Amino acid sequence: MTPQLDDIVVGAGLTGLAVVAGLDPARKIAVFTGQDGEGLLSYPGTQMPYAHFGPGGLGAYWHGVIPLCDSTGLVENRDAFARLFAHFYPSSRIRPEPRADRLFVPWSPIRPARELAGLKEKRPNLTTVDASVTSIRSEAGGFVVEAGGSQTSARRLWLAAGAVATPRLLETLTGKPAADSRTISDHIIGYAGQIPASAAVADIMQSIRRDRSGLDIPAFYNQRGDILYTIRPAMFDFATLDKGFEKRAVFGLPLSRGLAGLRGRVSPGLIAEALFNKAAIGRTAKLYSVYYQAALPGLYALDRQLALTGPVDQDAIRALGVRAQQEAPFADLMPSHHPERYLPGIHMHGSLDTAELTDLMALENGAQALHVVDSSALSVIGPEHHSFRVMARAFSMARSLSH
Ligand SMILES: Cc1cc2nc3c(=O)[nH]c(=O)nc-3n(C[C@H](O)[C@H](O)[C@H](O)COP(=O)(O)OP(=O)(O)OC[C@H]3O[C@@H](n4cnc5c(N)ncnc54)[C@H](O)[C@@H]3O)c2cc1C
Repeated sequence: MTPQLDDIVVGAGLTGLAVVAGLDPARKIAVFTGQDGEGLLSYPGTQMPYAHFGPGGLGAYWHGVIPLCDSTGLVENRDAFARLFAHFYPSSRIRPEPRADRLFVPWSPIRPARELAGLKEKRPNLTTVDASVTSIRSEAGGFVVEAGGSQTSARRLWLAAGAVATPRLLETLTGKPAADSRTISDHIIGYAGQIPASAAVADIMQSIRRDRSGLDIPAFYNQRGDILYTIRPAMFDFATLDKGFEKRAVFGLPLSRGLAGLRGRVSPGLIAEALFNKAAIGRTAKLYSVYYQAALPGLYALDRQLALTGPVDQDAIRALGVRAQQEAPFADLMPSHHPERYLPGIHMHGSLDTAELTDLMALENGAQALHVVDSSALSVIGPEHHSFRVMARAFSMARSLSH
């Protein structure tokens, strides 16, 4: 087979964008966007999306938070991380620092659909195909993908269809019987409780930096380093222990829906927290809410139609909530009475099982030019937001293999 193209990228979300950004512009590249009307899939009983099909993927909704640190060492090439960060935030004084426990909260998150459209204008060799890939096969010299009834071939194949969709595509390649159900891991976001104002908290609030690109806020860890904490002023109705957390659920939603959710039942505490989250306005309070984020492996089950059920283990959520309280690095924490309450982190990962990862490694190490670059192949992402780190890995791999 003589492949038609150099590269096929399956997926037009943040990870697909990072691959394209890393590939040599001289290469002939096609990006399949997965647009075929499937749209948005939401967590059971909520309006929070866990997958979005079409240009941009979940990147159309993400908040854009980027950890400046990387406690799990997901990004081997820190230069690539810094380079990608500077590409999207060229005028920012904030810079990634591997040992700084800080999070970057942008005014304007990276939107992959817009970025990809911009790259397309500059690169004559880049095309996008608004179709969903239904199968993949390998042939001598490359790969063939089937989408919308036609076939396209390339020397190299990049799978960036997201943690929810990529495993099913891989099944078509390996020819192994499709699993009826598979598990997928996620972060949960919880409320550990409250701490009172103190000189130490005032210092923390003082350390928040703000520039024209966004905010640089401090993060905290438990001793084991597997739970990440942030603190925010608890004002008005949020000053009563446990009262604010259920209202905060609205902020997991895309903006328009979030505002719709607020209409008619405006919470001043929620608005105060939103202003602090976005612009660090209102740093002084009598009490501060302590939130935590941590990963739970195999939290949900995914069926063949990519529908999510779960959480599989409610006890594990409660146990993590209790541990987050016990291990919080704040001596004067007043613990929440509801350690079982949580919000989905929307940081899906680890959907390929151990046997599939072994098969994948064999495929990648063979002469096969196949790369699964999204978080489906990551069983451990650490407690920090993972998406930009996954982008940096993909960007670095694409650069090193194509230049
Ligand atoms: C409200 C919200 C807030 C978030 N905030 C943050 C945050 O602050 N920080 C953070 O790190 N993360 C955050 N996330 C998570 C982040 O959005 C995702 O982790 C990230 O967007 C995943 O990117 P991806 O490109 O790997 O996959 P996806 O975004 O899932 O994109 C997958 C792409 O593949 C395409 N595709 C799927 N199947 C096929 C197929 N068969 N053929 C062709 N194409 C296909 C899809 O159409 C899509 O274009 C948030 C998510 C949400 C919803």
